[in-house]
Amino acid sequence: MNVSAPVALYIHVPFCLSICPYCDFVVVAGRAARGPANRLEAFLAAIHVELDLRADDLDTTVGSGRAPLSSIYLGGGTPSLLGPSQVCGLLDHVARRFGIARDAEITLEANPGRGDRGDLAGFRAAGVDRLSLGVQSLDPAELRTLGRRHGPADVTDAVAESRAARFRSVNLDLLYDVPGQSLRSWEWTLHAALRLEPDHVSAYALALDDPDAEGATSPLGDRLPLRPGAGAWRRRARPAQDEDRAADQYEMAERRLVAAGLRRYELSNWARRGHESRHNLAYWRCEAVEAVGPGAHAFDGSLTRRWNAARLEPYIASLRPADGALPAPPPGGREPLDPAAGRAEAAILGLRLRTGIDGAALLDPALAAGLEWGIEAGLVEAGRRLRLTSRGRLLASELFVRLLPDAPRAAPRTALHVQGTAA
Ligand code: SF4
Repeated sequence: MNVSAPVALYIHVPFCLSICPYCDFVVVAGRAARGPANRLEAFLAAIHVELDLRADDLDTTVGSGRAPLSSIYLGGGTPSLLGPSQVCGLLDHVARRFGIARDAEITLEANPGRGDRGDLAGFRAAGVDRLSLGVQSLDPAELRTLGRRHGPADVTDAVAESRAARFRSVNLDLLYDVPGQSLRSWEWTLHAALRLEPDHVSAYALALDDPDAEGATSPLGDRLPLRPGAGAWRRRARPAQDEDRAADQYEMAERRLVAAGLRRYELSNWARRGHESRHNLAYWRCEAVEAVGPGAHAFDGSLTRRWNAARLEPYIASLRPADGALPAPPPGGREPLDPAAGRAEAAILGLRLRTGIDGAALLDPALAAGLEWGIEAGLVEAGRRLRLTSRGRLLASELFVRLLPDAPRAAPRTALHVQGTAA
């Protein structure tokens, strides 16, 4: 396979007003995010340089006449801490160097709180057409547990503002398997979220991995070390999670969201027709995605993944050297996937989608054993397309681990485990 032109661009904006103890994203808070010593302008100057470096690379490897982007996603962090003119400046730059398709999806993540949801009408005027709100819960006690700065009323206000600003699409991110969250309180969150008539809902199980233990936090790693207090919070939170309750919560989400007219198009994502996230579909379909900003991951559409290291200051220093030297790509890494691992990854991502994968995958010696195990265990529906069954959606991680090269062959655990990633 050859390097492809990216269909989408991810821009990581790593600033938040404070840090939630469960957060695994690449985020800085405190003085770096606000006040006279904030690093927003320095970061923006650096990201403009990275946009040029990545576009120069693509001009060389793919050609300057490549197709324009069909999706741009400003994620974080809290990109709504930027001003509309800063967002407009980024989008203008992207349009000049990458091209933006006329009907492109342009998403911005925002927190619902009054202090950090930013100028929604201004973002819309800058060209953003899809808003993704980090709601997580509509239960005040759960929001406090999660360390969130907003309350349920802020969510209502943010959605009303987004409707007044005429965003084409509004997503609400929700979390389940939250410590202290009962089936009943999750039902309330779903009910209250649906009253706001979102176009799209993402519902993920709260993931409390330890990035330090995973070795992802070295100076070239794509994640930051756990912050003080976060480790203790997680140790207290984990015993309050429950896989069986999480499975019930997932099934409840499916029932409620589908009954409200949202169709599940991916394991953890539901949308009204025409409101499926084009950006995330590009990831799940293994299409080429460019990415800039600290901790951002790119894929060239063949078999190479590239990531930027998570730390902000080395990122800025590399792209805007203080000594006047030429800018260099930020620190990070590059990983060629071997073909078998690439096919396994494509199968796993494809199975997350409602459309599933081509049945011919059963003829692939690298995938056949895992898929046949899934069919026998009732997790995969066989046919011209292979799709997860309802049991398969609950036990997806048991299947996915068997599709990886060197997969275990042991019997499945009996406890239900809902496949999810952090929201
Ligand atoms: S969970 Fe969201 S709001 Fe909280 S620190 Fe992480 S990126 Fe910021």
